[in-house]
Amino acid sequence: MKQDGFTAQKRVNGGALPTSRAAAGGRFSTGRRIQKTFNNIKITILCGFVTILVLRGTIGVGNLGSSEADAVNQHLIEETNRILAEIRSDSDPNDPTENEVMSLNMTYSLGPKIGNWDEERRSWMERNPEFPNRVNGKDRMLLVTGSPPKPCDNPIGDHYLLKAIKNKIDYCRIHGIELVYNLAHLDKELAGYWAKLPLIRKLMLSHPEVEWIWWMDSDALFTDMVFEIPVDKYSQHNLIIHGYPDLLFEQKSWIALNTGSFLFRNCQWSLDLLDIWAPMGPKGPIRDEAGKVLTAVLKGRPAFEADDQSALIYLLVTQKEKLMDKVFVENSYYLHGYWAGLVDHYEEMMEKNHPGLGDERWPFVTHFVGCKPCGSYGDYPVERCLSSMERAFNFADNQVLKLYGFQHRGLLSPKIRRIRNETAAPLENVNQFDIRRAVHASS
Ligand code: UDP
Ligand code: MN
Repeated sequence: MKQDGFTAQKRVNGGALPTSRAAAGGRFSTGRRIQKTFNNIKITILCGFVTILVLRGTIGVGNLGSSEADAVNQHLIEETNRILAEIRSDSDPNDPTENEVMSLNMTYSLGPKIGNWDEERRSWMERNPEFPNRVNGKDRMLLVTGSPPKPCDNPIGDHYLLKAIKNKIDYCRIHGIELVYNLAHLDKELAGYWAKLPLIRKLMLSHPEVEWIWWMDSDALFTDMVFEIPVDKYSQHNLIIHGYPDLLFEQKSWIALNTGSFLFRNCQWSLDLLDIWAPMGPKGPIRDEAGKVLTAVLKGRPAFEADDQSALIYLLVTQKEKLMDKVFVENSYYLHGYWAGLVDHYEEMMEKNHPGLGDERWPFVTHFVGCKPCGSYGDYPVERCLSSMERAFNFADNQVLKLYGFQHRGLLSPKIRRIRNETAAPLENVNQFDIRRAVHASS
């Protein structure tokens, strides 16, 4: 086994999810939940005050009679608070099934069983040649990401969600990849990190023309805007995921793979895998009980409810013979790259290397595992997470801004500076700075 310090550290951290009980409790402890509720109340009150301030500034209270103005203000405050309370609430009082929990004896299903998808899809494509599964000589790919339906616990979280989606829009535009951003919980039972499963299935069935569905977490950023997934390498595989086979099969480690960025081929095999993966996800007793099994079997896993990553590792370990010939465990580039080992090296990378490499020389994806920028309780100090996300975003954004002749003043600065003079003959050099040219040249 490769045991040099750097590799070992990289690998152990490679898929790192929270590794301590306290860390895992960040998602699940009752104390923190109560604290979170208090925080939400505080935020709601704060929003009320902000509303008053904004109103004073925009309407100009002096323009109205004071009692009339007070009434208008009061109404707006109440309305704002009502809307905030509604979007922040997980429950719908009109929904009679909200409090029902699934019994452990019930078998959960993602939807009606589909058994002949490959044939159905093939015949659909024959009937719809205007929607081919290959475009410009490449497999049609759909990048899928999303975030919770409600606002983040802290507005800065929403700001980084915006930066993260802007980063994905840039990458997808440059590489001709379609993009879906999901804010809905398609299946109430599968909220949180399980939400990706029903979504991926729904997208496969609704977009038969798409060959690959690529899930990427909202807290994962593209940091190599040139690198492309070498899909031709995966012609015999249906699931492409970052990880390490020896951590998976020899150690049964709960961080052997990372489900923050992976690709599914649109086919029957993938639907079947989703069908056996999802039953550990329904929230409540099923997820709790499944969590106990996962903690008992997987090395290093703290005690907490079942998560999608552990559940996938469990399936691949226990059904290796049946599943693994269609799974490609990728580590020759960072389909997922653990942020803590990468973000401090960006300057060094810029000095020595160039985009397009995708590996530790210029990481394809930097994933902020455990940071929880949209929630309140991550496993790392919030300042470290936010400044690291800012660095990763700007590192990537520099690659985009180059075409326009700008660059960030530093990796921590949202401000930019000019790197070329304006010219009256812009087309002379346009090809040289266009990232898409670099992609074509390398492929
Ligand atoms: N997510 C979502 N809807 C939700 C909650 C989470 O789409 O209601 C997605 C979001 O993209 C998030 C991912 O699930 O990035 C997984 O969660 P997170 O990144 O917080 O987990 P970690 O990578 O830290 O284990
Ligand atoms: Mn994540």
